[in-house]
Amino acid sequence: MRNGAKAAPIDPDNARVSPIIVALVAFLLQQTLMAGLWLAVRTRLERRASTQWGLATVAAGAGMTLVALRGHLPPWQGVVLANVLIFVSVGLLARGVWDFTQRPYRNSVHLLTLLGYTALLTVLLATNAGRWLLLAASASSAWLLTLSALATQRGLTTEFGPREARLAALPIWGITLLFVLRTMGLALPSSGMSQPLHTDNTANVVMVLAMMSSGLVLNIALVALVTRRLTRQLEYASHHDDLTGLMNRRRIAQRLDEEFVRQARYPQSHGLLAIDVDHFKRVNDAWGHPTGDKALKAVADCLRQASRGSDSVARVGGEEFWVLMPHITAEDAEQAAQRIVVAVRALRLPGVTTDLRITVSIGVAVAAPSGDDPEALLHRADAALYRAKEAGRDRVVVCHHDG
Ligand code: GH3
Ligand code: MG
Ligand code: MG
Repeated sequence: MRNGAKAAPIDPDNARVSPIIVALVAFLLQQTLMAGLWLAVRTRLERRASTQWGLATVAAGAGMTLVALRGHLPPWQGVVLANVLIFVSVGLLARGVWDFTQRPYRNSVHLLTLLGYTALLTVLLATNAGRWLLLAASASSAWLLTLSALATQRGLTTEFGPREARLAALPIWGITLLFVLRTMGLALPSSGMSQPLHTDNTANVVMVLAMMSSGLVLNIALVALVTRRLTRQLEYASHHDDLTGLMNRRRIAQRLDEEFVRQARYPQSHGLLAIDVDHFKRVNDAWGHPTGDKALKAVADCLRQASRGSDSVARVGGEEFWVLMPHITAEDAEQAAQRIVVAVRALRLPGVTTDLRITVSIGVAVAAPSGDDPEALLHRADAALYRAKEAGRDRVVVCHHDG
């Protein structure tokens, strides 16, 4: 290409390294470090997305290296291949985002776009249309980046909320803006940006530095997304029961403590139901463990349906559950428990003989207006449950604070 051949990246008189080369080498170093990071974590975290982002970083670094070597390389390498690599890099970034957000994409479409793009650049090179070639390269990367930014925003909204989704897409919009600026600069022959990127002028150095810093911010944002998802998954796992998806004992114990703290300020009482499936060992023995598991899930669904949005429902042991009910009187808690007993009695498991009848016993305790604590409340609910078992199971017993 004409412009490219004219601008030698290294001053031949005193072999001074030009600022644009320093900037490009720094960019390359950064990309190598980032690629190493993604490829190192890929077996553990978001395998497909990490691989695509690692390869995207490698492709961007390789493309920019070819840009830096322009003038020393034939134009099809320094120009066509360099721009194809940068386009591939943007494409891989997008595919990583689609993988991360579980959006489908078609490999054939990506391959055809790439082939069409390479053909266009080669034709422009052959017809010596230097400016149009760079314009096409810049504009197509800007278009692909716009798609990635939109995909990031849309794909992450459900999982992380609109604010975080917009924040995550921001660095991609930043890089898009750079490519748009470059396209506009190339369209204006008088601007410094109308020169190929390796030409040593202030506009190009600023452009490479801006690309470098937005690339860094983008990678940090992607790492933040991956770790944010991981923390949410760990947080969920540490608060929930695997089999039923209900809260686990640790979480409901925290909720109970919080309820007592709240009660110190607002004088409304809260109630606790201690629920235990009756003769569950027999269910397992007669129908097998997998049917036992199905029964536990069905009981969990029943408890979910019977409770209000503000209630906390947990599986606290094998076939034991607690329901914490804020703002409730002893009478209302007892009624809620009765409804649960009736609903569980009516449970039928699909695919299991109607002989399988499940019942529960429930102990109810309500926090005293003062001088009560979680341990004492749990103890009273347990004692009431024990009495319900003693009295013949399949029933509710309420423990009043005085006994
Ligand atoms: P009771 O009416 O006195 O409560 O009698 P029970 O048989 O329900 O009580 P017990 O404590 O003797 O037995 C509880 C049974 O719950 C024993 C165990 O096999 C079963 N179990 C505990 N966890 C699970 C589980 O995750 N899945 C299944 N299928 N069974 C479980
Ligand atoms: Mg039990
Ligand atoms: Mg039991």
